[in-house]
Amino acid sequence: MLVNRQLASHVPFDVALVGGGINGVGIARDLAGRGLRVLLCERHDLGAHTSSASTKLVHGGLRYLEHFEFALVRAALAERERLLRAAPHLVQPQRFVLPHPPQRGRPRWMVAAGLRLYDALARGSSLPHSVALTLHDDALAPHYRDAHAYYDARTDDARLVVSCAIDAAERGAVVLPRTACVAAARGRAQWRLTLRDAQREWRVDARVLVNACGPWAGRFAREVLGREQAAPLRLVRGSHLVVPRRQRGDDAYLLQAGDGRVLFAIPFEDDFTLLGTTEVDVGDDALDQGCSDAEVDYLCRELGRHLRDAPRPTDVVWRYAGVRPLHASRRGRAGAASRDFALELDTDGAPLLEVWGGKLTTFRLLAERAADRVCAALRVDAPRWTASAHLPGGDLERWIGPCAHADVALARFTAALQQRWRWLPPELARRYARAYGTRVERVLRDARLRPARSLADLGAEVRPGLYAAEVAHLRREEWARTMQDLLWRRSKLGLRGG
Ligand SMILES: Cc1cc2nc3c(=O)[nH]c(=O)nc-3n(C[C@H](O)[C@H](O)[C@H](O)COP(=O)(O)OP(=O)(O)OC[C@H]3O[C@@H](n4cnc5c(N)ncnc54)[C@H](O)[C@@H]3O)c2cc1C
Repeated sequence: MLVNRQLASHVPFDVALVGGGINGVGIARDLAGRGLRVLLCERHDLGAHTSSASTKLVHGGLRYLEHFEFALVRAALAERERLLRAAPHLVQPQRFVLPHPPQRGRPRWMVAAGLRLYDALARGSSLPHSVALTLHDDALAPHYRDAHAYYDARTDDARLVVSCAIDAAERGAVVLPRTACVAAARGRAQWRLTLRDAQREWRVDARVLVNACGPWAGRFAREVLGREQAAPLRLVRGSHLVVPRRQRGDDAYLLQAGDGRVLFAIPFEDDFTLLGTTEVDVGDDALDQGCSDAEVDYLCRELGRHLRDAPRPTDVVWRYAGVRPLHASRRGRAGAASRDFALELDTDGAPLLEVWGGKLTTFRLLAERAADRVCAALRVDAPRWTASAHLPGGDLERWIGPCAHADVALARFTAALQQRWRWLPPELARRYARAYGTRVERVLRDARLRPARSLADLGAEVRPGLYAAEVAHLRREEWARTMQDLLWRRSKLGLRGG
């Protein structure tokens, strides 16, 4: 899969994409599947920025109903269902409990009405409808008695990115991580791009250029493309904390902060809870700032009002921040800014497609619309194909037969995997099932003896839970190079002191 750069420098591409976050890889996948010659460059690791720093939800966005974004919520709920089917190993149902505060906060009738609408907009979903319930949850503060519960889905955002990149590459795209686009000259019929990696600089030609730089899209347009008009983006940093598990069961909580904002406490990686998030407006000169101590204090303080075991800054085992590239269609609080996306095609010379905004959840739809625009610009008639396609490893039914529910499918698949490789420790089998789905066969194929017959065949344990065979697989098939790639994006073993 690794690319011969000589080849990359001589092929005239149909499309060059800059930016290897979820939107860039999603578009590359779609276009490669339509038969176009595609190149994607990402200056760091794939998904190194916003697309690995999200709340990791595949959701309609319950709270966007308050801003009357019904079309966006309906579209996102349809994508949620598609992703549950396309990648049941990576996208799993998640129940959310929404406790009713005794005094302040959104009134109960409003929550009930919002959830009924959410259920209706999700028509045909495989997930259960919302319900009212009496709480018996000793992880929540004792003043909570009643709640509503509803379903959304959770994912591993970084692995979703890499899955799309694998699919794109297997369909013929040239995927170049650690390669920046540093200059772009526009001709009448094609672009000449200057790419730079750690060793050298070289040029490639492409008929269409796609700016998929997420929060950097405005900066890329200004500094590399020399465009003068301001990007229609509002940049809002959001931070998350990971602390030892707060809840006993598998429910996530949706809670209201004192300032009216919505906060999450989501079960994470078996032993942890993910807390989020904040909203801090930033300029495009401050995109690399991490989660501040003030944000840690805010999240601990606000969530401490809802959880019996209040999180303290010293409990934090991981903190991360990302910048939301919000399409600047509305003023006011960042939480009220639209999560919708816009695509802008400029054909004044070789075509340029710019991507503004979006959500992880709707990446496939965004990619499909972007690919339609690119195909139209190139006068290529290539049909859409991603709506019912699996992501790599998502064809669990090949092992377990048809199954309409992603959680049941993953449980059956994990059991089948353990049956087949009985010597795999259960924790490792569970992790491999979730990370690789049916591609687990390829991980185990990298064992020293083929096929692997014991844990020893996976080679040395490089870090707790990480064996040489998996490292070889991740280097060969998933572009992993550094410990950061291995421990925090291709896996989350960094949380376990890896
Ligand atoms: C705090 C937070 C929580 C979120 N939670 C959710 C959620 O739960 N569910 C959901 O659906 N969405 C969520 N989102 C939104 C979602 O994460 C983003 O919309 C999405 O990840 C944006 O992807 P992207 O590809 O546009 O940007 P990015 O992932 O940032 O990718 C852009 C890439 O472009 C690269 N780049 C820039 N300049 C160059 C150059 N010159 N050459 C090469 N490469 C370049 C960058 O290195 C970067 O990797 C959240 C966002 C944030 C910040």
